Amino acid sequence: MTTTAFRPTEQAAQRDRCGAPIVDLTVPVVGGSSVRSSAGTAGLDVSEAERSERFAQMRAGELGSVHSWELVTAVDGPGTRLTVFLSGCPLRCLYCHNPDTMEMRRGEPVLVDELLARVERYRAVFAVTGGGLTVSGGEPLMQPAFVSRLLRGAKERGVSTALDTSGYLGAHCSDAMLGDLDLVLLDVKSGDPDTYRRVTGRELQPTLDFGRRVAASGTEIWVRFVLVPGLTDDVENVEAVARYVATLPTVSRVEVLPFHQMGKDKWEQLGMKYELEDTRAPEPELVDRVREQFRAHGLTVH
Ligand code: SF4
Repeated sequence: MTTTAFRPTEQAAQRDRCGAPIVDLTVPVVGGSSVRSSAGTAGLDVSEAERSERFAQMRAGELGSVHSWELVTAVDGPGTRLTVFLSGCPLRCLYCHNPDTMEMRRGEPVLVDELLARVERYRAVFAVTGGGLTVSGGEPLMQPAFVSRLLRGAKERGVSTALDTSGYLGAHCSDAMLGDLDLVLLDVKSGDPDTYRRVTGRELQPTLDFGRRVAASGTEIWVRFVLVPGLTDDVENVEAVARYVATLPTVSRVEVLPFHQMGKDKWEQLGMKYELEDTRAPEPELVDRVREQFRAHGLTVH
């Protein structure tokens, strides 16, 4: 889910002596606090398999469409994390910061083993910081076979895992996949079905169902709610989110994320209509009010 930060991503592909596209092997700086330093797909070998072979590999979960990756601290879960952003999303959030993740075809084909080699490389960092792997998007559950292999591979290496999802495709998450997850970052974009539809173009119910299923499995949940003035800030809408979240016993924190305009240029670059042109970031008083609404339901808010 690309709701929290703007990520400059496009990497200029180079070519090696054989003419195969390669990406620069720069290792990204470890991000601090909420500052991100995306590496695009730098350092990951991009698969050159034939089209039909690629489809077969994708179906088997050996190959995924990857938008970018980055190493971050204190976002996307505890500790220092390798966050992998997969391409493709069924939602069309008006405030999406990375609309270039919406289409799967815009991603780079990357083998799961390639990503797991990178997970392996940072194992010591994860162990020291209490971090791990976070699979994000776009919507990672657009590529369930690939995510399943990625999570299994991380667990086999003793690495903690997190899934950052809207929950809309929660039905794609198998029980085995859920068993390989230590944390779910669940984006609840609205509590009112009409508002949810307006924000995302889709229905709210699958998210509610998935959150209940994750909680019933005992897996920890962090809920994320993006606060957009004039769109998601209605008192009743926030109350509906808070009431729902309070029923999920494994929620350990709620993050209220104030809307900002940092993704705006990308919409324009992609030739997509950006409807929040005139929407301002919420005033501190509004952010406080919404956080208090969640706290009033006994929730821990960040
Ligand atoms: S459109 Fe998809 S990727 Fe963008 S914010 Fe919504 S759920 Fe996240």
